[in-house]
Amino acid sequence: MKYTVLTLFPEMIESASTESIVGRAIEKGIIELKTIDIRKYARNRYGSVDDYPFGGGAGMVMQAEPVCQAVEEAKNGKEGNKTPVILMSPAGRRFTQTIARELAEYEELIILCGHYEGIDRRVIDEAVTDEISIGDYVLTGGELPALVVMDAVSRMIPGVLGNESSAEEESFSGMWLEYPQYTRPRVFHGQEVPEVLLSGNHEQIRKWRLKEAIRTTLERRPDLICEEQLTKEEKKILQDLLDNQN
Ligand code: SAM
Repeated sequence: MKYTVLTLFPEMIESASTESIVGRAIEKGIIELKTIDIRKYARNRYGSVDDYPFGGGAGMVMQAEPVCQAVEEAKNGKEGNKTPVILMSPAGRRFTQTIARELAEYEELIILCGHYEGIDRRVIDEAVTDEISIGDYVLTGGELPALVVMDAVSRMIPGVLGNESSAEEESFSGMWLEYPQYTRPRVFHGQEVPEVLLSGNHEQIRKWRLKEAIRTTLERRPDLICEEQLTKEEKKILQDLLDNQN
């Protein structure tokens, strides 16, 4: 996977991407990261790429031309280059694990970070193929959202996580939030690890984890539960939990 991030703050992207799992994936060459400083396409000697909004109002708007040139550089000037150009935007579709999985299928993503009051609509209409929001709140720039998206997408790419199964079993990989996890010591502040996890009985452990995942989802995010997609086993556990609630 290659990410090309178009931003006014390349260091923000680069410094946050050298750490941890994503950093190691970049070192191993599984992920490639390039940043393009939109400011280098400024049309004045002050390096500014924003201007007052037509029609008045607060704040500044990023100009179309420098953004357009940065997108062209990201596409290597190749006409017909079909690489998705994703604008980070509070008005985009809400980012989910399903979207992360969808984006991980591409070999390359171009991610555009807005700033100030946003970007001139004309370049969005012309060059952007997707808009993604990381939640219903407004941040000062698209850099943190871009890092969130790259992190979630990178975890889906084979070889990025040490243990392949860990991405498959965690929250949002299916319908259920994750079951509780424990590690040593066996007793912490008087609280014992559930006995079944020490039993070595893989089938019992699987059943316990499924039940706890269903319990957590039922308590915290019942909206995620889609009855039509439940297996017979899941239906039975859910019913038992609901019966015990009443
Ligand atoms: N005036 C814009 C509005 O009301 O929607 C907000 C612009 S915001 C201050 C500047 C930039 O931050 C946006 O262009 C976008 O790139 C990024 N941004 C802010 N919040 C975001 C969010 N929740 N998800 C994705 N990007 C966001």
